[in-house]
This record gives sequence, structure tokens and C-alpha cells, in this order.
Amino acid sequence: MRYSQMLLPTAKEVPAEAEVISHQLLLRAGCIRKLTSGLYTYLPLGLAVLKKVEAIVREEMNRFGAQELLMPMVQPADLWEESGRWLKYGPELLRFQDRHNRDYCLGPTHEEVITDIARREFHSYRQLPVNLYQIQTKFRDEIRPRFGLMRGREFVMKDAYSFDVSDEAANQSYQNMHNAYTHIFQRCGLEFRAVEADSGSIGGSFSHEFMVLADTGEDTLVICQECEYAANVEKAKVVLAAASEKIAPTDLHDDLHDCVKVETPGMKKVERVADFLKVSPQQIIKTMIYLADDEPVAVLVRGDREVQPVKLKNLLHVNEVELAEDDTVWKRTKLPVGYIGPVGIPIKLVADQEIMTMTNAVAGANEKGHHLTGVHPGRDFTPVAVGDLRQIAEQDRCPVCQGALELTEGIEVGHIFKLGTNYSEAMHAVYQDKEGKEQTMVMGCYGIGVSRVVAAAIEQNHDKNGIIFPLPLAPFQVIILNLGMKNKETCAAAEKLYQDLQAAGVEVLLDDRDERPGSKFKDADLIGIPYRVTVGKTWEKEGKVELRTRHDGATTLLAYEQASSTLAAMIRDELQALNSSNGQKEE
Ligand code: ATP
Ligand code: MG
Repeated sequence: MRYSQMLLPTAKEVPAEAEVISHQLLLRAGCIRKLTSGLYTYLPLGLAVLKKVEAIVREEMNRFGAQELLMPMVQPADLWEESGRWLKYGPELLRFQDRHNRDYCLGPTHEEVITDIARREFHSYRQLPVNLYQIQTKFRDEIRPRFGLMRGREFVMKDAYSFDVSDEAANQSYQNMHNAYTHIFQRCGLEFRAVEADSGSIGGSFSHEFMVLADTGEDTLVICQECEYAANVEKAKVVLAAASEKIAPTDLHDDLHDCVKVETPGMKKVERVADFLKVSPQQIIKTMIYLADDEPVAVLVRGDREVQPVKLKNLLHVNEVELAEDDTVWKRTKLPVGYIGPVGIPIKLVADQEIMTMTNAVAGANEKGHHLTGVHPGRDFTPVAVGDLRQIAEQDRCPVCQGALELTEGIEVGHIFKLGTNYSEAMHAVYQDKEGKEQTMVMGCYGIGVSRVVAAAIEQNHDKNGIIFPLPLAPFQVIILNLGMKNKETCAAAEKLYQDLQAAGVEVLLDDRDERPGSKFKDADLIGIPYRVTVGKTWEKEGKVELRTRHDGATTLLAYEQASSTLAAMIRDELQALNSSNGQKEE
């Protein structure tokens, strides 16, 4: 491709609308343009990257035995009614009617459609196992579309679905996809981890997320320093500390006190109450008000802990939980924010498991400017449900081996689920076994956020000058800068190198714009092409071109004649190394 002919509008300024680096750089490097909230156009450079990810995903899915198909994006409501998700899915599902007033939705995922295919096409155990996938645009009316391609409303997903005759066979299909994903992200040249994950609204028995490690990740992962355990904090199980460590020493005695109301004027925050009453935050019961499918619920965690919303959602069996704003709390419960507590509370009450091990605790009195001391769970209040509700912290121990934990940020680029028979039972996807008996198919589903991978790759690989594309995802492998635009011979040399590299199978962008060298260098850095070759003064003087690698800035001079073959070989070797490594970096 010739730069002069390409729609590649770069910009120096950081766009005000973009918070995260991948969004900023995708806009500045002319990869995407926003249409409206959560909807983006891929300009040619962005599309080239997207296609690279797609190609790797497609190759590995095929290699691991999956077959590609393509389902409609528009889905009829009756299928969703069969699975029970038409009402359950929540407002992310964009529902609409056609001219005959029939209900439809835009596919956020395709379990219903694929299960419908399976029940029509597969009847015998001989036809199974099957794994079907597609790469397609999904629509989710996200509550907070943000960060550009990271969380769009429209985005490109690879979704795959497996159908098996038994639970064990389904486990094998799951493992097969686990391996495929490992190869995919390895081949993309990304640093990633597979972690245990919450199964979410799709429902299922177990799942793993594939996380690209990046400081700006929306997800937090907990990784054991001593064993293989790695999990999303949404899922990571908190083990209660041994009884001896569970309560920090305080000036309160361990024998049960009476519950006493004390004045705490203006003391709304845990730390202030703790200072004022001379207790530690560990001695305080923190009461948070959440809206669970719009119903106010009081949630108790120890003063120094945080509620983990996904754990709360699972304990309550609801679709959505959201921390209530202060004015909502007052409107909906008439409880005084900052002084809310479990004793006598008139709304639904749930507690983290640790709360039930506390004695003589301090809690809000449900009266402005007052707290209670000597609060004793079980005696003074009884939650309707108790469970693991808090976010794991670095001080906690590994739930498997009690080893030390490390917390790190990640971006979820893939998610695999063992679904079991949730959908096949609801939608009657059955087959005949060897004995001719009807059995329910066992399912798995496997997603990759193809467009999110593009953003994640940039979050993980950039510097102050721009994007540093990993070679396998780069829109071009090489950029040639012609720095002698006024010199016919230099132009001819650049042109020939461009032709030679293409002939050698290398993807090349030739910067043949009539621009100053400075802006050519800047743009080459910004758009993140892994190899930059300059044809300019050194070629004119000594017949050499300068090769610079984007990721480390290392430069070497190559004899002009050998430049194309040397580069082609380097690129081939680098890609081969990624293709042949089998296994995740953690292994
Ligand atoms: P998240 O927790 O980020 O909302 P999810 O659990 O809803 O993700 P899945 O339903 O498992 O996601 O979808 C499969 C993959 O699609 C995810 O792993 C993610 O990479 C990608 N994905 C999901 N939602 C979006 C979105 N709004 N924009 C871009 N990619 C997305
Ligand atoms: Mg989601």
C-alpha cells in the first residue's frame, strides 16, 4: 500500500473524548472513527488489524476441529422465550418489532440460534461431538459503552458452541477450546493468563477467562505465587482466616456487651467512626445499600473490606446489582446515609461470612449522628443470607494452597463456558444414544472479543510515541520511509524495495508522501509498524538502508541489495516462533 493513497488520517492531539491509551491511539493513528456512543467505523488501518486477529482465530479454531458458519444478527423473540432469557437478559438486549409487530432482538450472543440449529440437524450420537463457530458483529446495549473498542455496543466477536453426548465428552471439548485459545493468544504475541471466572448471565457450571495483562484492564485477577491458581476477583473465593487472626486486638473485651447507642455526630465514614470511638476498622460493620434488580438490599462487610458485586449478584440470584446513590438510598429506604446499620433495618439484609464471626462490633444505628456499639450478629440481627461477598485482597491467602496472592489488572479477551444442559434442556436439543434412548446434548460456549483484542494489544504494547503492534497483528509488517522524495534515484530505490518486499510476501506500507522526514518518522512510530526501513542519505552515500525495530528502537544498516531478503527472513522466523510455541506463557 502507498501511504499517499491510503485513508490514514493521523493526529498529534490527544482526543479529549478518549480516556484510555488504546482509544486515544486508535483515534490518533487513524484506525477508527466514532459514529455515536459505542459505535465505531474501522478505517482501513484499523480494519487491517481486525482482520489479522480474525485470521489467527479462524485458523486455530479450524485446526482444533471447529467449523465456521454464520448466523443472522437479528433473532426472533420466541427462541429467547424458549430459553427463558427474553425477560431475564436485561436492558443490554436490544429488543424491537418488525412491521407485523413481531418481537426481535439484535444478537448479543447466539446460544438460542445455535441450539435451534443443533436440535434440527443432530439426531444421533454418531453426529456428535460438533463445534460450530462464527465471527460476527454483536450488539449489546451496554450501560456504559466506553474506552473505544474495549467496550463498544457493537463489536466483533468469535463465538463457538460445542455439542456433546455426555458430561465427560463436553469436558474434553472444553479442554480442546482451552488449548485453542491458548494457541490463539500466543500467536497474537500477547502476554495473557487464563483465570477461573464467574459464569455470568449465560449460566453454566464452570468457566475460564483469558486475560491480556495490562495496567488499564477493567478486570482484576488474583494469581497465587505458589501454585497454579489464578482467578478473576469476581470469582476468587475468600477463605476465612483462622479464628485466632480473625479479630484484631481492640480495647473492647471479647465477652458480649450490650448493644448501646452512642453519638457520632458527622461521623459517616468508617475511618472517622473508628477514630472517634477508638476502635479499629476491623471492629466496624459496614452497611452498603445496593439495588438488586431495583430492590434495595443492605449488604454487610467488615469496615476494612469491599463488597464484590458479582458475588452479591450470585448470592441474591438477580440479574443486576448496583450500588445505590446517596439520594436514592434516602428516597427508597428513608435510612440516613452514613449511619445505616443492620439492627432493626427494615429492608432485606445479607452479610459477608466474616460478619458472623464478629463480636462487640460497631454499626450504624439507623439514626442520624448515631452508631451502636456492642453489636452482636445473630443476637442483634439475622441476615436472610450469608455468603462470601467480599472482594479478595492481596493480604488474603490462596484458596487452594494458602500461598501468598498477587493482584494484577487484565483485559478479558476470551471467555469459555461449560454450559451443561441449560439450553439443550430448555429448548429440547436431544439425540438418540446407542440404545436408541433419547438424551440431552451437553453444551459449551466459547467467545473471543475480536475487536477488543485489537484494543488490548495496544493497551499492552505502546509507548509515548504511539502503538507498538506485535508483529502478528500489525496492519503492515514493514513501513518504508522514502526520505529523498526530490531525488529520482532514491524514489526508484524505495519503489524497488517496496516491490521486492511484496514479492517476498511481506506486507509493506510505502511512505511516499511529500512530507518532511520528521513527520514521516512520527507517523511511523504512531501507527506502530514493527519494522521501519528508511531510504535516504545513507542509501545515496553508501548504498545502505536503515532498519529500525519499533519495539526497542534498535537500528542497523542493511546493504540495499540484501534488505528485502533479510527482512523477509526475519519476519518469517519471528512469526514461526510464535506459531510453533504450544502453550501459554504461564506453563
Ligand atoms: P464483560 O464482562 O467484559 O462485559 P462478558 O462476560 O459480557 O464481558 P462474554 O459474553 O463472555 O463477555 O463475551 C465474549 C467476549 O466478548 C468477552 O470475553 C469480551 O472479550 C468480548 N466482549 C464482551 N462485551 C464486549 C463489548 N461490549 N465490547 C467489546 N468486546 C466485548
Ligand atoms: Mg458483558
